[in-house]
Amino acid sequence: MLSLKEEVLQGIYEEFEQWIEEKSVCKKGCSACCTQNVLITAVEGELIHRYVRDKGQESWLAAKLQETGKTRRVQVTTNSFAASCLQGDDVIPESYGNEEPCPFLKDNCCTIYDVRPFSCRCFISEIVCKPGVPAEIGSTYLSASSAVMQIIEHLGQGEYLGNMFDVLLALSDLPENRALFRQLPASLSDQGRANVNKALPLPGFLLIEEEMAKVQPLLEAIFSHKIGDRSIEDILNNR
Ligand code: SF4
Ligand code: SF4
Repeated sequence: MLSLKEEVLQGIYEEFEQWIEEKSVCKKGCSACCTQNVLITAVEGELIHRYVRDKGQESWLAAKLQETGKTRRVQVTTNSFAASCLQGDDVIPESYGNEEPCPFLKDNCCTIYDVRPFSCRCFISEIVCKPGVPAEIGSTYLSASSAVMQIIEHLGQGEYLGNMFDVLLALSDLPENRALFRQLPASLSDQGRANVNKALPLPGFLLIEEEMAKVQPLLEAIFSHKIGDRSIEDILNNR
């Protein structure tokens, strides 16, 4: 059974996917964008762990986590970046992983597709990427993605946020992940915990008036999405 936060996360994924429906050229088997530079929150990591546990694939995940290359501690979260920008401070976006292919790829397809994190879901190019031709992401989608990332970070405030592999490692010592933890070198889960940062509450959206008008229908759909008899907005505001 999903936790309340995991249900909220899935509600956010559903609304975002309905909003982007048919607007991208990204297709199954196209994977040049699948690198080890993916940022996630603990709730997204818990959903991946649950998926792996349900399939009894802990040994597979243990092997994948040991294949991962160098990652870095996340210094700037999406919401700390937004807070700095809203205060007029200069912030330099950072990298927290590397450009090597994601170990979750098999035959150019994502093996955790159903539970892939939002950073992967929001990478929607208007042109097909080729060597030397990177993704082109429209400004409305960039604005929408950043706003949704901020909501997801708010959902996980106080919990881990970092490179996908560091968050998965940091969560590996939870009691429910014992079968995975036993198969990992202790130094790896320590490394995961050392590299993750904490998710922060939403300080306000970084949307100018014109962008807000385009993104508002998506935000309204997310906030009014019902989990049982409560809306996501109520849950995020602890009502
Ligand atoms: S972003 Fe580029 S590489 Fe990734 S799926 Fe879309 S077209 Fe393919
Ligand atoms: S998790 Fe899946 S979609 Fe995301 S980078 Fe890895 S293979 Fe690609």
